[in-house]
Amino acid sequence: MDHHNIKKKIHKLRKELSEYNYQYYMMDHSEISDYDFDQKLKKLFFLEKKYPEFYDPTSPTLRIGVDNTSYNDPIHHQYKMYSLKNTYSKKEFIIWKKRIKKYISSFSLICELKYDGVSINLIYKNGFLTHAGTRGDGIKGENVTENVRTIPSIPLQLRGNKYPPYLEIRGEIFLSKKNFIYINKKRIKSGKNPYSHPRNTASGTLKMKNTQEVYKRSLSCIVYTVIGNHLPFHTQNKSFQYLQNWGFKVPKKFILGFKNKDIFQYIDYWNKWKHLLSYHIDGIVIKVNEYKNQSILGYTNKYPRWAIAYKFKQKLSETNLLKLKFQVGRTGIITPVAHVRPIKISGTKIKKVALYNDHFIQKMGIHYGDTLLLEKGGNIIPKVTKVNVKKRLKNAYPINFLKKCPSCDHLLTKNKKFFFCKNKNCPSQKRKKIQHFVSEKAMNIKGIGKKMIKKLYQKGYLSEITDLYKLKSEDFIKIYGVKKKLTDVLLKNIEKSKYNSYHRLIYALGIPHVGEYISKKLTEHFVNIHFLISASYDHLTSILGIGKKIAESIKTYFSIDKNKNLVEKIIQYGVNFTQYPINKKFYPLEGKSFVFTGKLSHMTRNIAKNKVESLGGRVFNTVNNKIHFIVVGKNFGSKLEKCMKKKNIKILNEDIFMKIIEHKKKEK
Ligand code: AMP
Ligand code: ZN
Repeated sequence: MDHHNIKKKIHKLRKELSEYNYQYYMMDHSEISDYDFDQKLKKLFFLEKKYPEFYDPTSPTLRIGVDNTSYNDPIHHQYKMYSLKNTYSKKEFIIWKKRIKKYISSFSLICELKYDGVSINLIYKNGFLTHAGTRGDGIKGENVTENVRTIPSIPLQLRGNKYPPYLEIRGEIFLSKKNFIYINKKRIKSGKNPYSHPRNTASGTLKMKNTQEVYKRSLSCIVYTVIGNHLPFHTQNKSFQYLQNWGFKVPKKFILGFKNKDIFQYIDYWNKWKHLLSYHIDGIVIKVNEYKNQSILGYTNKYPRWAIAYKFKQKLSETNLLKLKFQVGRTGIITPVAHVRPIKISGTKIKKVALYNDHFIQKMGIHYGDTLLLEKGGNIIPKVTKVNVKKRLKNAYPINFLKKCPSCDHLLTKNKKFFFCKNKNCPSQKRKKIQHFVSEKAMNIKGIGKKMIKKLYQKGYLSEITDLYKLKSEDFIKIYGVKKKLTDVLLKNIEKSKYNSYHRLIYALGIPHVGEYISKKLTEHFVNIHFLISASYDHLTSILGIGKKIAESIKTYFSIDKNKNLVEKIIQYGVNFTQYPINKKFYPLEGKSFVFTGKLSHMTRNIAKNKVESLGGRVFNTVNNKIHFIVVGKNFGSKLEKCMKKKNIKILNEDIFMKIIEHKKKEK
């Protein structure tokens, strides 16, 4: 390729990838598979490395780019970043409104959610993101440009061309509830204490030194303020349309109103239903909508006079510790769990609260029977924030951590803050390993859950993973309440798992630090599990996304004979262990349910039913909540109407149905 063509190629890739990024993060859909996206990204990486003369700060590759160490420099805000006047009472809001009425005559108010994150100022010059700074003291903040570049919902270059040459866009950076839980789960697994508040975690993340790590945390951003000259809009609500067209995420749940009644209704509604949002809010912000009115009102030293935040009160919920249970994990880790008097927190009923480890229990000074204060609001995972010592019972005993494993009586060993049962034959650990192996993201063997495993274990039929593939009909029948019909289903499900794609097997082994994503990555690089077993440390770490810790964990796991034998045995039972399984048999319509209405023209309904079932799907005769698709033929009946009333049921005509069946057959 000559130089010109390379340049063209790089441009094309950048454009494509930016477009996919936009689709994916802004419109929640994607035309390209993750794999193809990665391939394109890699290609671009490679070309950019080889031809540095085509460097471009807005390249999609730089979102996950380099280590950076030099951004601790402050950033001086050209326009001050204000805070907001807070109130917790409706009365104060009314007073505020009366006061502003004296200065402006006709105005409307816009109510937005108050996102509980870190405020950010994004500077765009000629449409390019050049700087990003935190609020700091309002005059100067911290320069976090490189980290902000990793946030997919912040455009590196504005879309369209209707923007002034200099713009400051302000908004909030936060972690979604889902991400926060995920980060904490990972921390707990690796022996660290969980973070206690998503806002602090988001703030800490923004200041991290390692951009790759920031990228992994998947921060989100919603913007709500535009500062610039010659703006093509004059109200807050209009600005959202422009911001969205430029490529930002903007508030979606705002209302425009004036009457107190409407505003209070909005406040009460979100106070009640905030737990349904995928991110945290800590109140409502009410703003004067018109820029002209805003400038008449102006600012105090600290906050705009044209806005006020109504903050929700954080409630602590009191409950009692009923009993303390110690759970034994798959790796032998012992986790204390408080069973409490059930209470509702943010719409969910709480019966158990994790106490993490001995250190936490001692720090909180928890005694048996204590009255505990659980946190509401900020957190999704309930957490003990305080002990009400005044209500402590006389002669209450402090909690002492177990000395012996609750499952096998083996003496526990301490490692960092955690206690472990190191007994290789510990029944709890064995069952947990099997539980993990059959779980949905692993081998996905439906019907074999915690309870069934326990029963089979007690009867002596299932004490190792490999025993799963030895189970016979008679074994199941001997368990109270299991009938022949169920047995057939369970055996079929076990059989089916042999044809899983091979990343499931890797994940199912439960190698520490090897999650679903890494398992998939590994199958891309090793055609079968034998190659993975003999992979060198260097080979492993050369794979994008696999660092020292994971590589070491994989090496250690396969250096143990017992583990290698386990894999060999599983393979002997016919479980797929390669990228290219022979005789691949799977059920592409697994878990999907159909209902037919009307007369089909290409085949009888019975034949259609057989086709669906041979691909693993289910067919119902009547409409129910399990249906995913309705296939509509000629002279259809009332089933269609019923389906239309239900959400999430897709309506297919016969042609599309046929296409799906043909397509899935090929896949099979
Ligand atoms: P506080 O941190 O309590 O002083 O509240 C002020 C902060 O609320 C601002 O600096 C913003 O970061 C944040 N905030 C969250 N949502 C909004 C919103 N919709 N409009 C304005 N500020 C918001
Ligand atoms: Zn044990």
